[in-house]
Amino acid sequence: MSEAFTYRTISELSSLLHKKETSSTELTELYLSRAEALAEKTNSYIKLTRAEALKAAAAADKTLKAGEAGPLCGVPLGVKDIICQDGVEITCGSKILKGYVPPYDATAVAKLKQAGAVILGRLNMDEFAMGSSTENSAFGPVHNPWDLEYVPGGSSGGSAAAVAAGEAPAALGSDTGGSIRQPAAFCGVVGLKPTYGRVSRYGLVAFASSLDQIGPLTQDVRDAALLLNCLAGHDRRDATSLAEKVPDFTAALTGELKGLRAGVLKLDGLSGVDPEVLVSFRQAVELLAGAGVEIKEIELPHLDYGLAAYYIIAPSEASSNLARYDGVQYGLRCQDTPDVVAMYKGTRGEGFGDEVKRRIMLGTYALSSGYYDAYYLSALKVRRLLKNDFDQVFSGLDVVLTPTTPTAAFKLGEKTQDPIGMYLADYFTVGANLAGLPGISVPCGFSKAGLPIGMQAVAPALREDLLFKLAYGYEQRTEWKDKHPSI
Ligand code: GLN
Repeated sequence: MSEAFTYRTISELSSLLHKKETSSTELTELYLSRAEALAEKTNSYIKLTRAEALKAAAAADKTLKAGEAGPLCGVPLGVKDIICQDGVEITCGSKILKGYVPPYDATAVAKLKQAGAVILGRLNMDEFAMGSSTENSAFGPVHNPWDLEYVPGGSSGGSAAAVAAGEAPAALGSDTGGSIRQPAAFCGVVGLKPTYGRVSRYGLVAFASSLDQIGPLTQDVRDAALLLNCLAGHDRRDATSLAEKVPDFTAALTGELKGLRAGVLKLDGLSGVDPEVLVSFRQAVELLAGAGVEIKEIELPHLDYGLAAYYIIAPSEASSNLARYDGVQYGLRCQDTPDVVAMYKGTRGEGFGDEVKRRIMLGTYALSSGYYDAYYLSALKVRRLLKNDFDQVFSGLDVVLTPTTPTAAFKLGEKTQDPIGMYLADYFTVGANLAGLPGISVPCGFSKAGLPIGMQAVAPALREDLLFKLAYGYEQRTEWKDKHPSI
């Protein structure tokens, strides 16, 4: 791809488009070719939708010519393959949806299209968004562009890798327990999980409905704000979407940090956090303090139980949500079975991968009579206690800071036989989902092996502006976003 356009942000591309220094058709061609050229290396995309993309680009070029275009018009983007796009087969990284073509756009996709954005293709992911490494995809694992032997994180690993490798200027992901923020941290990009209800989930295939949110993965904080401007807002088709006013999030990008009050999670005595991650995180906190952020050490006493609660609640909801894939209505159907029960069993046995089966079993067990109180109900109580912890610290603070992940990216295959080890990658991220809060991950350094490290900020509900303010102020004072993998 013409070097001039690789690693340009949405705002840069938009300005080039408005100045007629390039066209959407040219950019779309360039990104499609780069994605094709890198496909063997990263495996970021499940499918490129070349024809649809070029058609959308041509339409965007007309709008641009007419001079009525907004900031996303003509800009190419990737979409995680769990968000419905009218007329394009959706897989959710699974075999079980084979052949299923949604007859409608998810609201998030409809909004992108409305804004004139061009969808390049469908990004790879852990099956039904269950995983932290994108190794649970029926379409093969995604490779981290910084080192192809490492995982990109998950479940939105395709989205994060595509943005990090310059195969898309930005992408949509979904985050149920960290699936936007954790891969963003592993791939050195920005990932935002909005407040629960901020973005409509209409057309997002459900994993755990009380936790799922759609959000952007971008090269910088400004692009995340631009995309949230487009995606946010009430949708009568999603009863959980909030009827709150959507501010212009770019107004928070002032660069000013003075006066912000940040709680830094006390990490002493926490085992499993890599010393390299601690060093980068502490340096980031020091930089913020030097720039005028008021820093206070805090504790979230129930965070330690968050992971256990999450891995009861998410599988419980998943076991119910995934009951619909029985070969009757969607995708795959096992043929030549003697009766309908054999057809259900055959379809689910063949169609689901091991991790999805594990989650369905965990969830079904936790919800079954006799165990419901011991597991599911207890997990809900922990969820409330954790929410109370956040409410309490936010009575005197604007944001809570933690590392996004306990370690930088691990090697492909390293944790596939160790589900608990894999789940631990979500230690810092699940809290925001359980409490319904917005969270962002921004790059804050590199390990000695040259792999990215991320810092997470969490804010009170509907205060994404505080996340943008802090993250942008930090980004302006560092150079992490200018570093790219040599791929
Ligand atoms: N890694 C977590 C899980 O496997 C989070 C997934 C997600 O956010 N979609 O459940």
